[in-house]
Amino acid sequence: MASVFCLRNVIFRGTCNVNSTKFLVLKSVANHSRSLSISSINCNDVEFDLVVIGGGSGGLAAAKEATTLGAKVAVLDYVTPSPLGTKWGLGGTCVNVGCIPKKLMHQAALLGESIQDAKSYGWQFPQAENIRHDWETLKDAVQAHIKSVNWVTRVELRDKKVEYINGLGTFVNANTVSATTKQGERTLTAKYFLIAVGGRPRYPDIPGAVEYGVTSDDIFSLQKEPGRTLVVGAGYIGLECAGFLKGLGYDATVMVRSVVLRGFDQQMAHIVTAAMQDRGVNFLFKCKPKKIEKLDNGQLKATWVNEVNEEFTDVFDTVLFAIGRRALTRELKLENAGVKVAGDGEKIDAVNEQSNVPHIYAVGDVLYKKPELTPVAIHAGRLLSRRLFGNGAATMDYDNVATTIFSPLEYGAVGLSEEEAVKRFGEDKVEIYHAYYKPTEFFIPQKNISHCYLKVVAMRDGEQKVLGMHFIGPQAGEVIQGFAAAIKCNLTVNALMGTVGIHPTIAEEFTRINITKRSGKDPNPASCCS
Ligand code: FAD
Ligand code: NAP
Repeated sequence: MASVFCLRNVIFRGTCNVNSTKFLVLKSVANHSRSLSISSINCNDVEFDLVVIGGGSGGLAAAKEATTLGAKVAVLDYVTPSPLGTKWGLGGTCVNVGCIPKKLMHQAALLGESIQDAKSYGWQFPQAENIRHDWETLKDAVQAHIKSVNWVTRVELRDKKVEYINGLGTFVNANTVSATTKQGERTLTAKYFLIAVGGRPRYPDIPGAVEYGVTSDDIFSLQKEPGRTLVVGAGYIGLECAGFLKGLGYDATVMVRSVVLRGFDQQMAHIVTAAMQDRGVNFLFKCKPKKIEKLDNGQLKATWVNEVNEEFTDVFDTVLFAIGRRALTRELKLENAGVKVAGDGEKIDAVNEQSNVPHIYAVGDVLYKKPELTPVAIHAGRLLSRRLFGNGAATMDYDNVATTIFSPLEYGAVGLSEEEAVKRFGEDKVEIYHAYYKPTEFFIPQKNISHCYLKVVAMRDGEQKVLGMHFIGPQAGEVIQGFAAAIKCNLTVNALMGTVGIHPTIAEEFTRINITKRSGKDPNPASCCS
């Protein structure tokens, strides 16, 4: 028998263990401020301990952890085809139409750059002038890799005895989910439900957007090469896609509505933009799309307006919308379960991943005001399962999550931006260390070093606790990852300066910081080894 009931400010989480021995876990969550209704279900009547809706990063991580802890788990996953008809297999956004294909295409673009660098290092390409990239080869290789991951994921679920149901989940009531599968409807009951449905790209509400535009759902499997591409949106996806498309040899233009990388340190965002412009990516600032039309020759005519409503047009082969993503909650019929959505009407505002209905949880991109990142979804999912089915007490810490924008010159960041630190603590309390640096690898090919820049945001007093670290340069993700762990351990500027670097690397530049913005001193390096 199990009961799941919740009183204001105190959650009683009753659960059966998988051997049906009854035990009760009592947890007090002091800041759980919602008024919660009491609901209870009988453990013996339910088919599963946990039903996960959404087989992506968060859902799969939670499901696998739960079965490892002995729970009986089912995962529902269903991909609705994109308006262009693109669909994919098990594993969610990251594996199929997100991080993985993006990183592979980014790598393809970087290799193109390396071929140019290689000539300066003595590599000879007898047919150098004829070097060109073949889209179909790359697309096929990327898709083959994705299919292999889909397969491995299915095998892993089978081995771990997670029941995978290829069906669209909707709530019938708070204790029942219906799965629509090719074979028909199936009803599932469970003690706990986990909503991990992620999101899908938005389209702007303009004529021709859905008919003729593509999104990140389509770009990695595009049958014909993208050609001259307009990318609408200057967030993560816009910059990354425009970056690799240009690197593969296609003309790429980014349309920016307000600012590039809103929410990020804006000085860093400007440098990322400049580095992309330096590589030939075009930017249309303060512009919004108005309509997309198809020409007789198959090309797309885009019309847009600037901030004073002046109209412009140009012709492209592909228009890619990268204007953010909507959470897939509408399709879930949350109202049948009584699960409330937050301010924007789509996302779930959970406390420790628990929705307003105590036995219904949510992780990943579907959560309100939480980073939309794969490792965030995975970590939160795992911790949740440990709390539900193990003896875990740890909750997800959404602060100081490191991230990287895989633009041609990458930008990695962890912690606060300069603006956010000043807003929170005041300008006189914050110290900014910064430096330009010269990657050794750039010398021989004489690559532009003017965008290789880093910044440490710290408290001004005492040992100067580090609040944020920002790095633009090659392998920024690899550089920032280790420092993210250091920040978790309360890194200080003193400790950073007391760290002996690894020479010659670019990550060591963080250990060499000594110039504050306030000092007005030149942050340009004198030599590589000074
Ligand atoms: P998802 O992985 O989206 O999984 C949700 C699954 O649920 C999907 O398979 C969906 O089809 C399914 N589903 C939806 N509704 C239902 C339903 N009703 N019934 C059954 N199944 C349903 N993050 C990073 O950390 N690093 C990156 O480099 C990175 N790059 C990205 C690049 C792109 C182009 C995109 C789009 C995203 C990128 N992300 C990246 C973000 C990352 O992919 C997401 O944060 C992550 O996938 C979210 O995981 P999730 O479990 O919340 O949802
Ligand atoms: P995003 O980062 O939120 O950026 C959306 C962009 O589109 C913004 O520049 C926004 O401009 C613009 N925009 C929004 N509505 C628009 C409209 N109607 N017309 C024109 N422009 C519009 O979203 P995203 O790039 O789609 O990425 C979604 C999420 O996926 C990200 O938040 C990120 O967490 C995740 N992701 C992560 C990675 C990574 O880790 N490397 C990579 C890709 C994606 P404004 O600023 O003016 O609103």
